[in-house]
Amino acid sequence: MELKVGDSYKCPEGHKAIIVWVSEDKKLIAVKCHRKHLSKVKKVADDTKPALPYRRRNTKERKIYVNNMVFLIKI
Ligand SMILES: [Zn+2]
Repeated sequence: MELKVGDSYKCPEGHKAIIVWVSEDKKLIAVKCHRKHLSKVKKVADDTKPALPYRRRNTKERKIYVNNMVFLIKI
């Protein structure tokens, strides 16, 4: 079966995604998924805790989620 733009395909996390690009040799496709994906975990200042001396700050991890992520997939 030949994949083409507009077909549905599974994103790496198993959601139903849509093919938005196919390479000329058909070995690489880009799929766009509308579900949320964890993009990265970022350290941010945590102002809910009391400040530490010497300008050190409490940090906490914030998970960054992204919608409409595009994945490149080798097929
Ligand atoms: Zn997905």
